[in-house]
Amino acid sequence: MSLSDPGEGQNLRTFAAKMVFISIILSVLVSCVVIAIAGFFNVLPLPLLEALVHSVIMAWIVGGIVTGVMCSVIGKAIRKLHASHAEFERLSKTDTLSGLANRRAFNQCFDEVENDASLAIFDLDRFKGINDNHGHAAGDIVIKRAAAAIEDVFGEFHCVARLGGEEFAVIVRGGKRKDRLILIELARIRVSCLTINFNGTQLQTTVSVGVADIEPSRSKHDTFASADKALYLAKASGRNCVCHEEELQLSQAVDQLKSTLLAAS
Ligand code: GH3
Ligand code: MG
Ligand code: MG
Repeated sequence: MSLSDPGEGQNLRTFAAKMVFISIILSVLVSCVVIAIAGFFNVLPLPLLEALVHSVIMAWIVGGIVTGVMCSVIGKAIRKLHASHAEFERLSKTDTLSGLANRRAFNQCFDEVENDASLAIFDLDRFKGINDNHGHAAGDIVIKRAAAAIEDVFGEFHCVARLGGEEFAVIVRGGKRKDRLILIELARIRVSCLTINFNGTQLQTTVSVGVADIEPSRSKHDTFASADKALYLAKASGRNCVCHEEELQLSQAVDQLKSTLLAAS
């Protein structure tokens, strides 16, 4: 149940009203029974009918106020609980450094996408050098700025996540493969154009990207492994570039041709 949903809020109010009504009816019944017993033993300070009328009126006034206040207090507590639960849910899916989705949220998103999408793994180039030369804090700022640039290109429709370290993943959804690759290329360019000020020093970074297509016939594991291999190829090809998994076959064919030629010479 979500209290941000107006329908659920309405259900809770109806439930509270029912509880108030039931508790009043119960208190009327209980006090009637008590008065009837007291009347039977002749210990009533008032005539029986008058005592019954008083008890019904008091049950409506006191019972109504007490249960009404209790329902309101409990309702507020439930609303607070739901708000903190929603916040907890949000935090459990968010990467604290970059503010992007974390690996858990990414896995959930990845599982939900079946086709017309590509998986792009982004890895900052020679990032260790930034940490080594300017310190971990500088590295953190570079991660944050690169994350913001990538998110800015893709927006909320695509799932942008930080997998860990200086590695990001994007599930680029919809359109044709060519359109998705253009968007990925744009993100790569945006990262390479960043100028990041750290204590007066201008830092720059680039990113390599491996891309694989998400298809219903492939397992998520295979898709991820293929995008990872394409990323490895992008690194091996000189970094600051995007490699699609199809280029892996071409690269393997070239490697094979090279070794055949080498063996023949
Ligand atoms: P390559 O171009 O081959 O990717 O080289 P690289 O230096 O980027 O790759 P490598 O995996 O060697 O370096 C990643 C570094 O990222 C190592 C680790 O210390 C650093 N790192 C991991 N998580 C964080 C983080 O949260 N903040 C910072 N500042 N550094 C991090
Ligand atoms: Mg790296
Ligand atoms: Mg890495």
